[in-house]
Amino acid sequence: ERPAHLKRAFVQTGHGDARRTIRVMQWNVLAQALGEGMDNFVQCPLDALNWPERKYMILEEILTYKPDILCLQEVDHYFDMFQPVLATLGYQSSFCPKPWSPCLDVENNNGPDGCALFFNHKRFQLVNTTHLRLSAMMLKTNQVAIVAALRCRSTGRVFCVGVTHLKARSGWEVLRSAQGSDLLRNLRNITQKIETEENAESAIPLIVCGDFNAEPSEDVYRNFATSSLGLDSAYKLLSTDGKTEPPYTTWKIRPSGESCHTLDYVWYSHRAFDVNAVLDFPTAEQIGPNRLPSYNYPSDHLSLVCDFCFTDPVN
Ligand code: NDP
Ligand code: CA
Repeated sequence: ERPAHLKRAFVQTGHGDARRTIRVMQWNVLAQALGEGMDNFVQCPLDALNWPERKYMILEEILTYKPDILCLQEVDHYFDMFQPVLATLGYQSSFCPKPWSPCLDVENNNGPDGCALFFNHKRFQLVNTTHLRLSAMMLKTNQVAIVAALRCRSTGRVFCVGVTHLKARSGWEVLRSAQGSDLLRNLRNITQKIETEENAESAIPLIVCGDFNAEPSEDVYRNFATSSLGLDSAYKLLSTDGKTEPPYTTWKIRPSGESCHTLDYVWYSHRAFDVNAVLDFPTAEQIGPNRLPSYNYPSDHLSLVCDFCFTDPVN
């Protein structure tokens, strides 16, 4: 029997108008093909990864928080699950597969994994979508991003949302940093173009979600934190000093041992948005001795959920 859903609570971090908040979820859902065929989660029974059940656990996690914007990585069931199911729940979406997804090397795979972006169509109108294949040192890499410009239907305000999944594993820090710089360059170009088209008086605000596969000590994190785009990382607000990232966003056990890291982030334009609330993380005890994924939780990465509101509300 499957135990109850992990209990997590929102921590209030601001005092913006709760009726106008934009809820954003960042989540590496764990590709079905990688979980069953590549990842080697030695303490997770294969039975806990059985797709016909696991898909409902993924949907349960999404529906528990009902984000207005949902940014996912390792999606290898977009066309047969995420897109049709979430469309019936009012989400419009876009999917960008990885060019050479490692899922394709798994027997009986369901196609390539990639990034997917979903938004509440009642609240937002799509202005445009860009699919990026990230470059590093002029060369195209196997990592991608989606950037969508959205218009709030109630206020007319335009902002951009990005989702990405950078190169994994240690030894690839320089590549990750170059991929991050390429994404930042593209975000600058995309927002500048919209500013011109919209005759905007100020910079187009940004929210960028991703599995950066990088601890906060890496260059790619520093480059995001100090870029000219004025981005800040929302989950620092969970810490007592407001300056420290959480101790983990992913926690798994591989043959090489425990792997407990902070790799996932929600970046936002700090001049344009306040963070009203962030969803806290389960404790080590709640996660359990076998870590993730498990019968309790369908991915090795935890979801990050934040409520944003514009610092300067229009009527
Ligand atoms: P990455 O190194 O970025 O990792 C791909 C996936 O593997 C990620 O989703 C990652 O998850 C997961 N992963 C990370 N660490 C481990 C680990 N220790 N054990 C198992 N899985 C792990 O891969 P790339 O996108 O650069 O692609 C590399 C793979 O793609 C190759 O291994 C090959 O299989 C395939 N490929 C095939 C080509 C072809 O011609 N067919 C060409 C190029 C690549 P997370 O992000 O959660 O850590
Ligand atoms: Ca993974």
